[in-house]
Amino acid sequence: MPLHQPQSLADPSAGFPLSRESARQLRSRLCAWFDDHRRPLPWRSRSDAYAIWISEAMLQQTRVETVIPYWERFLDRLPTIDDLAEAPEEELLALWSGLGYYRRARNLRLAAIAIRNRFDGRFPDLLEDALSLPGIGPYTAGAVLSIAYDLPVAAVDGNVMRVFSRLFGLEMPWGSSALGRKVWKLAESWISMGQSAKDRDGASPRAWNQALMELGATICTAKKPSCDRCPWSGSCLALGRDRVESYPVPGAKRESVKVELETLLIVKDGRILLKQRSSTDRMAGLLECPTRELVPSGGEPRLFPGEFAPPSPTGELRVHEELAEIRHSITHHRIRATIRVAELTCATPSELPSSWRWIRPMDSGSLGLTGMTTKLLKRKAVTDFLSEASNR
Ligand code: SF4
Repeated sequence: MPLHQPQSLADPSAGFPLSRESARQLRSRLCAWFDDHRRPLPWRSRSDAYAIWISEAMLQQTRVETVIPYWERFLDRLPTIDDLAEAPEEELLALWSGLGYYRRARNLRLAAIAIRNRFDGRFPDLLEDALSLPGIGPYTAGAVLSIAYDLPVAAVDGNVMRVFSRLFGLEMPWGSSALGRKVWKLAESWISMGQSAKDRDGASPRAWNQALMELGATICTAKKPSCDRCPWSGSCLALGRDRVESYPVPGAKRESVKVELETLLIVKDGRILLKQRSSTDRMAGLLECPTRELVPSGGEPRLFPGEFAPPSPTGELRVHEELAEIRHSITHHRIRATIRVAELTCATPSELPSSWRWIRPMDSGSLGLTGMTTKLLKRKAVTDFLSEASNR
Protein backbone atom coordinates (compact mmCIF):
# COMPACT_ATOMS: atom_id res chain seq x y z
CA MET A 1 0.00 0.00 0.00
CA PRO A 2 1.33 3.47 -0.80
CA LEU A 3 2.18 5.46 2.31
CA HIS A 4 0.64 8.62 0.95
CA GLN A 5 -1.68 10.05 -1.62
CA PRO A 6 0.41 11.00 -4.67
CA GLN A 7 -1.44 14.32 -5.13
CA SER A 8 -0.31 15.58 -1.73
CA LEU A 9 3.29 14.95 -2.73
CA ALA A 10 2.87 16.76 -6.03
CA ASP A 11 2.23 20.12 -4.39
CA PRO A 12 5.62 21.76 -3.76
CA SER A 13 4.02 24.40 -1.53
CA ALA A 14 2.77 21.75 0.87
CA GLY A 15 5.89 21.97 3.07
CA PHE A 16 7.11 18.56 4.15
CA PRO A 17 4.86 16.26 2.14
CA LEU A 18 4.79 13.16 4.36
CA SER A 19 3.01 12.48 7.60
CA ARG A 20 5.32 11.76 10.56
CA GLU A 21 4.36 8.12 10.42
CA SER A 22 5.02 7.79 6.69
CA ALA A 23 8.33 9.59 7.06
CA ARG A 24 9.30 7.29 9.92
CA GLN A 25 8.36 4.17 7.97
CA LEU A 26 10.27 5.23 4.86
CA ARG A 27 13.29 6.08 6.98
CA SER A 28 13.24 2.70 8.73
CA ARG A 29 12.83 0.85 5.44
CA LEU A 30 15.72 2.66 3.83
CA CYS A 31 18.03 2.14 6.80
CA ALA A 32 17.16 -1.57 6.99
CA TRP A 33 17.91 -1.86 3.26
CA PHE A 34 21.22 -0.02 3.79
CA ASP A 35 22.20 -2.38 6.60
CA ASP A 36 21.87 -5.30 4.19
CA HIS A 37 23.23 -3.75 1.01
CA ARG A 38 25.88 -1.19 1.90
CA ARG A 39 29.04 -1.47 -0.18
CA PRO A 40 32.16 -2.18 1.87
CA LEU A 41 33.95 1.04 0.89
CA PRO A 42 37.28 1.53 2.68
CA TRP A 43 36.33 4.87 4.28
CA ARG A 44 33.27 3.21 5.81
CA SER A 45 35.57 1.33 8.15
CA ARG A 46 36.84 4.67 9.48
CA SER A 47 35.02 7.00 11.82
CA ASP A 48 37.57 9.82 11.93
CA ALA A 49 36.48 13.05 10.29
CA TYR A 50 39.75 13.47 8.39
CA ALA A 51 39.44 10.19 6.47
CA ILE A 52 35.79 10.89 5.68
CA TRP A 53 36.50 14.47 4.62
CA ILE A 54 39.20 13.31 2.16
CA SER A 55 36.87 10.69 0.68
CA GLU A 56 34.09 13.26 0.25
CA ALA A 57 36.45 15.74 -1.43
CA MET A 58 37.66 13.05 -3.84
CA LEU A 59 34.20 11.69 -4.60
CA GLN A 60 32.95 14.99 -5.97
CA GLN A 61 32.64 14.51 -9.75
CA THR A 62 34.60 11.24 -9.53
CA ARG A 63 33.54 7.61 -9.51
CA VAL A 64 33.95 5.45 -6.39
CA GLU A 65 36.13 2.84 -8.15
CA THR A 66 38.50 5.59 -9.30
CA VAL A 67 38.67 7.19 -5.87
CA ILE A 68 39.51 4.07 -3.79
CA PRO A 69 43.23 3.74 -4.76
CA TYR A 70 43.69 7.52 -4.58
CA TRP A 71 42.14 7.66 -1.12
CA GLU A 72 44.28 4.77 0.13
CA ARG A 73 47.47 6.32 -1.23
CA PHE A 74 46.58 9.76 0.15
CA LEU A 75 45.83 8.49 3.66
CA ASP A 76 48.91 6.33 3.60
CA ARG A 77 51.14 9.25 2.65
CA LEU A 78 49.34 11.98 4.65
CA PRO A 79 47.66 10.18 7.58
CA THR A 80 46.73 13.25 9.65
CA ILE A 81 45.44 16.80 9.19
CA ASP A 82 48.85 18.07 10.34
CA ASP A 83 50.58 16.04 7.62
CA LEU A 84 48.25 17.53 5.03
CA ALA A 85 48.85 21.06 6.32
CA GLU A 86 52.62 20.51 6.00
CA ALA A 87 52.58 18.79 2.59
CA PRO A 88 54.41 20.59 -0.23
CA GLU A 89 52.04 21.60 -3.03
CA GLU A 90 54.00 19.52 -5.52
CA GLU A 91 53.47 16.36 -3.49
CA LEU A 92 49.81 17.13 -3.03
CA LEU A 93 49.30 17.62 -6.76
CA ALA A 94 51.14 14.37 -7.46
CA LEU A 95 48.81 12.52 -5.06
CA TRP A 96 45.84 14.13 -6.80
CA SER A 97 47.14 13.72 -10.35
CA GLY A 98 44.43 12.15 -12.53
CA LEU A 99 41.49 13.05 -10.27
CA GLY A 100 41.02 16.45 -11.95
CA TYR A 101 39.49 19.59 -10.43
CA TYR A 102 42.79 20.42 -8.74
CA ARG A 103 41.35 23.32 -6.80
CA ARG A 104 39.91 20.64 -4.49
CA ALA A 105 43.42 19.51 -3.55
CA ARG A 106 44.65 23.05 -2.91
CA ASN A 107 41.60 23.84 -0.81
CA LEU A 108 42.14 20.68 1.23
CA ARG A 109 45.55 21.92 2.26
CA LEU A 110 44.30 25.45 3.00
CA ALA A 111 41.49 23.99 5.10
CA ALA A 112 43.95 21.70 6.93
CA ILE A 113 46.09 24.74 7.80
CA ALA A 114 42.98 26.57 9.07
CA ILE A 115 41.92 23.52 11.13
CA ARG A 116 45.38 23.28 12.66
CA ASN A 117 45.44 27.00 13.48
CA ARG A 118 41.86 27.56 14.58
CA PHE A 119 40.53 24.22 15.79
CA ASP A 120 43.54 22.50 17.38
CA GLY A 121 43.89 20.14 14.44
CA ARG A 122 40.45 18.58 14.84
CA PHE A 123 37.82 18.87 12.11
CA PRO A 124 35.18 21.19 13.67
CA ASP A 125 31.85 19.74 14.78
CA LEU A 126 29.84 22.95 14.40
CA LEU A 127 28.26 23.54 11.01
CA GLU A 128 29.20 27.28 10.91
CA ASP A 129 32.82 26.42 11.70
CA ALA A 130 32.98 23.70 9.05
CA LEU A 131 31.44 26.06 6.47
CA SER A 132 34.05 28.71 7.26
CA LEU A 133 36.82 26.44 5.90
CA PRO A 134 38.15 26.87 2.33
CA GLY A 135 36.49 24.54 -0.17
CA ILE A 136 33.90 23.20 2.28
CA GLY A 137 30.32 23.79 1.18
CA PRO A 138 27.03 22.62 2.67
CA TYR A 139 27.27 19.13 1.15
CA THR A 140 30.77 18.30 2.42
CA ALA A 141 30.07 19.87 5.82
CA GLY A 142 26.84 17.87 6.15
CA ALA A 143 28.48 14.63 5.04
CA VAL A 144 31.44 14.93 7.44
CA LEU A 145 29.41 16.12 10.43
CA SER A 146 26.73 13.45 10.02
CA ILE A 147 29.03 10.51 9.15
CA ALA A 148 31.92 11.28 11.50
CA TYR A 149 30.05 12.87 14.43
CA ASP A 150 26.53 11.47 13.87
CA LEU A 151 25.02 14.98 13.91
CA PRO A 152 21.63 15.62 12.28
CA VAL A 153 22.91 17.74 9.40
CA ALA A 154 21.53 17.20 5.89
CA ALA A 155 23.91 16.34 3.02
CA VAL A 156 22.45 16.67 -0.46
CA ASP A 157 24.56 15.49 -3.37
CA GLY A 158 23.46 14.72 -6.92
CA ASN A 159 22.28 11.26 -5.85
CA VAL A 160 20.00 12.61 -3.12
CA MET A 161 18.74 15.31 -5.49
CA ARG A 162 17.74 12.65 -8.03
CA VAL A 163 16.13 10.32 -5.44
CA PHE A 164 14.03 13.13 -3.96
CA SER A 165 13.06 14.42 -7.41
CA ARG A 166 11.60 11.02 -8.18
CA LEU A 167 10.21 10.09 -4.79
CA PHE A 168 8.33 13.40 -4.47
CA GLY A 169 7.75 13.90 -8.22
CA LEU A 170 9.38 17.34 -8.18
CA GLU A 171 8.82 19.31 -11.37
CA MET A 172 11.67 21.83 -11.01
CA PRO A 173 14.41 21.44 -13.65
CA TRP A 174 17.68 19.74 -12.78
CA GLY A 175 20.36 22.25 -11.82
CA SER A 176 17.83 24.97 -10.96
CA SER A 177 18.10 26.81 -7.66
CA ALA A 178 14.39 26.09 -7.08
CA LEU A 179 15.09 22.34 -7.10
CA GLY A 180 18.16 22.80 -4.91
CA ARG A 181 16.26 24.84 -2.34
CA LYS A 182 13.36 22.38 -2.31
CA VAL A 183 15.47 19.25 -1.88
CA TRP A 184 17.65 20.81 0.82
CA LYS A 185 14.55 21.86 2.72
CA LEU A 186 13.08 18.37 2.47
CA ALA A 187 16.35 16.76 3.54
CA GLU A 188 16.74 19.10 6.52
CA SER A 189 13.15 18.55 7.65
CA TRP A 190 13.48 14.80 7.36
CA ILE A 191 16.77 14.46 9.20
CA SER A 192 15.70 16.74 12.03
CA MET A 193 12.31 14.99 12.27
CA GLY A 194 14.20 11.78 13.00
CA GLN A 195 15.76 13.37 16.08
CA SER A 196 12.65 13.96 18.16
CA ALA A 197 12.14 11.43 20.95
CA LYS A 198 8.81 10.44 19.39
CA ASP A 199 10.32 9.61 16.02
CA ARG A 200 13.57 8.02 17.14
CA ASP A 201 13.73 4.68 15.45
CA GLY A 202 17.37 3.73 15.50
CA ALA A 203 18.01 5.48 12.18
CA SER A 204 21.00 7.59 13.09
CA PRO A 205 21.95 10.65 11.01
CA ARG A 206 25.13 8.75 10.12
CA ALA A 207 23.20 5.81 8.66
CA TRP A 208 20.41 7.93 7.17
CA ASN A 209 22.60 10.23 5.06
CA GLN A 210 24.76 7.37 3.83
CA ALA A 211 21.69 5.26 3.04
CA LEU A 212 20.15 8.06 0.97
CA MET A 213 23.34 8.54 -1.04
CA GLU A 214 23.74 4.78 -1.45
CA LEU A 215 20.21 4.43 -2.79
CA GLY A 216 20.96 7.05 -5.44
CA ALA A 217 24.35 5.56 -6.28
CA THR A 218 23.26 1.94 -6.61
CA ILE A 219 19.47 1.68 -7.11
CA CYS A 220 17.94 5.00 -8.09
CA THR A 221 20.62 5.57 -10.71
CA ALA A 222 20.47 8.23 -13.42
CA LYS A 223 19.91 5.62 -16.13
CA LYS A 224 17.83 2.47 -15.73
CA PRO A 225 17.01 2.71 -12.00
CA SER A 226 16.27 -0.65 -10.36
CA CYS A 227 12.83 0.20 -9.01
CA ASP A 228 12.04 -3.51 -8.51
CA ARG A 229 14.77 -3.63 -5.84
CA CYS A 230 14.03 -0.24 -4.26
CA PRO A 231 12.85 -0.13 -0.63
CA TRP A 232 10.72 2.91 -1.53
CA SER A 233 9.03 1.53 -4.64
CA GLY A 234 5.63 1.39 -2.91
CA SER A 235 5.73 5.11 -2.16
CA CYS A 236 7.55 6.64 -5.09
CA LEU A 237 5.55 9.22 -6.98
CA ALA A 238 7.58 8.96 -10.21
CA LEU A 239 7.05 5.19 -10.25
CA GLY A 240 3.38 5.59 -9.34
CA ARG A 241 2.96 7.87 -12.35
CA ASP A 242 4.92 5.41 -14.50
CA ARG A 243 7.23 8.28 -15.42
CA VAL A 244 10.48 7.39 -13.68
CA GLU A 245 12.55 8.36 -16.72
CA SER A 246 10.98 11.84 -16.72
CA TYR A 247 12.53 12.71 -13.34
CA PRO A 248 14.55 14.67 -12.59
CA VAL A 249 13.12 17.12 -15.12
CA PRO A 250 16.02 17.91 -17.52
CA GLY A 251 17.69 21.29 -17.07
CA ALA A 252 19.31 23.56 -19.65
CA LYS A 253 22.27 21.79 -21.26
CA ARG A 254 25.63 23.46 -21.44
CA GLU A 255 26.83 23.36 -25.04
CA SER A 256 30.05 21.46 -25.52
CA VAL A 257 32.95 23.41 -27.01
CA LYS A 258 35.44 21.91 -29.45
CA VAL A 259 39.09 22.70 -28.86
CA GLU A 260 41.96 21.88 -31.23
CA LEU A 261 45.40 21.59 -29.69
CA GLU A 262 48.94 20.84 -30.71
CA THR A 263 51.17 19.30 -28.09
CA LEU A 264 54.90 18.61 -28.25
CA LEU A 265 56.76 15.48 -27.26
CA ILE A 266 60.29 16.74 -26.68
CA VAL A 267 62.71 13.91 -25.88
CA LYS A 268 66.43 13.96 -25.20
CA ASP A 269 68.66 11.25 -23.68
CA GLY A 270 65.63 9.17 -22.69
CA ARG A 271 63.96 12.09 -20.87
CA ILE A 272 60.84 14.09 -21.73
CA LEU A 273 60.62 17.85 -21.34
CA LEU A 274 57.59 19.02 -19.35
CA LYS A 275 56.41 22.49 -18.48
CA GLN A 276 54.62 23.52 -15.31
CA ARG A 277 51.34 25.38 -15.81
CA SER A 278 51.45 28.89 -14.41
CA SER A 279 49.67 29.90 -11.22
CA THR A 280 47.09 31.88 -13.22
CA ASP A 281 46.11 29.00 -15.53
CA ARG A 282 43.54 26.32 -14.90
CA MET A 283 45.26 23.22 -13.49
CA ALA A 284 47.91 25.57 -12.08
CA GLY A 285 51.14 23.90 -10.97
CA LEU A 286 50.66 20.67 -12.94
CA LEU A 287 53.25 19.49 -15.44
CA GLU A 288 52.40 18.95 -19.08
CA CYS A 289 53.93 18.48 -22.50
CA PRO A 290 54.11 22.00 -24.01
CA THR A 291 50.72 22.62 -25.58
CA ARG A 292 49.06 25.39 -27.55
CA GLU A 293 45.56 26.02 -28.72
CA LEU A 294 45.08 25.99 -32.50
CA VAL A 295 41.37 26.75 -32.51
CA PRO A 296 40.48 28.68 -29.36
CA SER A 297 37.44 27.63 -27.35
CA GLY A 298 35.10 30.32 -28.79
CA GLY A 299 34.88 33.34 -26.54
CA GLU A 300 35.90 31.49 -23.37
CA PRO A 301 39.14 31.94 -21.44
CA ARG A 302 41.70 29.84 -23.28
CA LEU A 303 42.46 26.46 -21.76
CA PHE A 304 46.02 26.53 -23.09
CA PRO A 305 47.12 30.13 -23.54
CA GLY A 306 50.41 31.08 -25.19
CA GLU A 307 52.47 29.91 -28.12
CA PHE A 308 55.39 27.50 -28.36
CA ALA A 309 58.68 29.15 -27.56
CA PRO A 310 62.03 27.74 -26.49
CA PRO A 311 62.35 27.93 -22.72
CA SER A 312 65.81 29.54 -22.79
CA PRO A 313 67.33 32.23 -25.03
CA THR A 314 70.01 29.86 -26.33
CA GLY A 315 67.60 27.05 -27.12
CA GLU A 316 66.00 26.37 -30.47
CA LEU A 317 62.75 24.49 -30.81
CA ARG A 318 62.29 22.35 -33.92
CA VAL A 319 58.86 20.84 -34.46
CA HIS A 320 58.78 17.65 -36.54
CA GLU A 321 56.27 15.08 -37.71
CA GLU A 322 52.87 14.22 -36.26
CA LEU A 323 53.07 11.12 -34.06
CA ALA A 324 49.49 10.54 -32.92
CA GLU A 325 46.23 12.18 -32.00
CA ILE A 326 44.36 11.98 -28.72
CA ARG A 327 40.87 12.94 -27.61
CA HIS A 328 40.29 14.30 -24.17
CA SER A 329 37.55 16.13 -22.26
CA ILE A 330 37.85 18.85 -19.65
CA THR A 331 34.41 19.77 -18.27
CA HIS A 332 32.42 20.71 -21.44
CA HIS A 333 35.51 21.11 -23.62
CA ARG A 334 35.94 18.35 -26.20
CA ILE A 335 39.61 18.34 -27.09
CA ARG A 336 41.41 16.92 -30.09
CA ALA A 337 45.16 17.16 -29.65
CA THR A 338 47.78 16.43 -32.28
CA ILE A 339 51.00 15.13 -30.76
CA ARG A 340 54.13 16.23 -32.60
CA VAL A 341 57.68 15.13 -31.99
CA ALA A 342 59.93 18.11 -31.34
CA GLU A 343 63.54 18.77 -30.54
CA LEU A 344 65.08 21.34 -28.26
CA THR A 345 68.67 22.19 -28.97
CA CYS A 346 71.15 23.69 -26.53
CA ALA A 347 68.99 23.63 -23.43
CA THR A 348 70.91 22.00 -20.66
CA PRO A 349 69.06 21.59 -17.35
CA SER A 350 70.96 24.56 -15.91
CA GLU A 351 69.66 26.81 -18.69
CA LEU A 352 66.04 25.89 -18.10
CA PRO A 353 63.72 28.06 -16.02
CA SER A 354 62.45 26.24 -12.92
CA SER A 355 59.03 25.74 -14.52
CA TRP A 356 60.55 23.36 -17.11
CA ARG A 357 61.80 19.91 -16.24
CA TRP A 358 63.34 16.89 -17.94
CA ILE A 359 61.72 13.78 -16.48
CA ARG A 360 62.22 10.06 -16.94
CA PRO A 361 59.07 8.38 -18.33
CA MET A 362 59.20 5.87 -15.46
CA ASP A 363 58.81 8.74 -12.94
CA SER A 364 55.71 10.22 -14.53
CA GLY A 365 53.37 8.28 -12.19
CA SER A 366 54.77 9.99 -9.11
CA LEU A 367 54.54 13.54 -10.50
CA GLY A 368 51.58 15.87 -10.74
CA LEU A 369 50.76 15.74 -14.46
CA THR A 370 47.68 17.06 -16.26
CA GLY A 371 45.18 14.36 -17.20
CA MET A 372 45.86 14.94 -20.88
CA THR A 373 49.63 14.50 -20.50
CA THR A 374 49.08 11.34 -18.44
CA LYS A 375 46.86 10.00 -21.22
CA LEU A 376 49.32 11.05 -23.92
CA LEU A 377 52.26 9.27 -22.24
CA LYS A 378 50.24 6.03 -22.20
CA ARG A 379 49.43 6.11 -25.92
CA LYS A 380 51.03 3.17 -27.72
CA ALA A 381 52.52 5.37 -30.45
CA VAL A 382 54.18 7.45 -27.73
CA THR A 383 55.46 4.54 -25.63
CA ASP A 384 56.84 2.90 -28.81
CA PHE A 385 58.53 6.14 -29.78
CA LEU A 386 60.05 6.54 -26.31
CA SER A 387 61.37 3.00 -26.23
CA GLU A 388 62.87 3.40 -29.73
CA ALA A 389 64.42 6.72 -28.71
CA SER A 390 66.00 5.16 -25.61
CA ASN A 391 67.56 2.37 -27.78
CA ARG A 392 69.11 4.76 -30.26
S1 SF4 B 1 11.09 3.47 -6.99
FE1 SF4 B 1 12.58 3.78 -8.62
S2 SF4 B 1 12.49 5.95 -9.09
FE2 SF4 B 1 11.46 5.68 -7.14
S3 SF4 B 1 13.04 6.09 -5.61
FE3 SF4 B 1 13.03 3.88 -6.00
S4 SF4 B 1 14.55 3.50 -7.61
FE4 SF4 B 1 14.08 5.71 -7.57
